[in-house]
Amino acid sequence: MEIKVTRTDSPKALPADSSTLGFGKIFTDHMFMMDYTEGKGWHDARIVPYGNISVSPASTAFHYGVEIFEGMKAYRKADGSVQLFRPIENARRMNRSADRMCLPQFPEEDFIEAVKTLVRLDEVWVPSDPDTSLYIRPFMFGNDETLGVHAPKNVVFMIILSPVGSYYKEGLNPVKIMIESEDVRAVRGGTGEAKCGGNYAASNRAGDRAEKKGYSQVLWLDGVERKYIEEVGAMNVMFKISGTVVTPALSGSILPGITRKSIIELLKKEGYPVEERRISVEELAKAMAEGTLEEAWGCGTAAVVSPIGELNYEDHVYVVNEGKIGTLTQHLYDTLTGIQWGKTEDPFGWTVQL
Ligand SMILES: *Cc1c(COP(=O)(O)O)cnc(C)c1O
Repeated sequence: MEIKVTRTDSPKALPADSSTLGFGKIFTDHMFMMDYTEGKGWHDARIVPYGNISVSPASTAFHYGVEIFEGMKAYRKADGSVQLFRPIENARRMNRSADRMCLPQFPEEDFIEAVKTLVRLDEVWVPSDPDTSLYIRPFMFGNDETLGVHAPKNVVFMIILSPVGSYYKEGLNPVKIMIESEDVRAVRGGTGEAKCGGNYAASNRAGDRAEKKGYSQVLWLDGVERKYIEEVGAMNVMFKISGTVVTPALSGSILPGITRKSIIELLKKEGYPVEERRISVEELAKAMAEGTLEEAWGCGTAAVVSPIGELNYEDHVYVVNEGKIGTLTQHLYDTLTGIQWGKTEDPFGWTVQL
């Protein structure tokens, strides 16, 4: 793949203070773009100054939500070098999402080359303060100029970059979670296992309702029986019940998280009992009532792990581990972030130098 690079004439000032970064609020100097045309394939790989793009108001993405995305990070190591975490997994998952949404496959090696080339060009934007990183957002959308409903013949793939601050400025404080029994996020056969924008649009209502009641996320139940646990907010979810880690099996409506996969591989390597299976909300309520639910956490690229301190199910409030982070949750956070920021050995070969 040949990438044509047009550098900006007016680089922006770098953020002065990483404590004000937040998540996804500022963007770097450049972005990657590539077009797909049916019959021609992918063409015109280019890096251009970050800025608005021009698309037709009839573009498929606006009307029918033909859009998928990925989320990954570049991490600054103590020696000043930069590394990625399992980027091949993001390349593969984007292609699985593309398949579901009738978008074209994007070659895995080109995906990684595009990410690396763009991050190298904007490398000064990778922050170095503890727990900060450069968030990488690849995305793809249908761009036919027609209101006809069909698989798009014209597609755009882009990558934008955003330096992000520490997710946990006040330490890993456990969050309060509302178990959602009305709205559902996804159903088997739907788009739950694709990372597509529409899933998020459909989940905002429940999220807003939970927030108004003082909860930070919702715990999603399956869309058919509203009985089995699926995910928490936009993260996968795990429970430690009587010493065993239990996480919902990938059923077709759950997003296959790379953090989830990494934690399972880590736990297995450490000889920890871990089960991927269906877990019903009754089983969880029973474990909470009997005190066998020892720890609960969400996991995803943005937060790594997010301890759950309280669960509300049909107005019963259950406190998990006295509202404190559990020792295994802390251990997983320390181990994963240690590998990601290059503070500890990477026995899995997960990290990729820039
Ligand atoms: C992205 C995402 C996750 C987490 O995936 P990671 O690869 O670990 O970041 C979990 N659930 C949903 C719905 C997601 O969109």
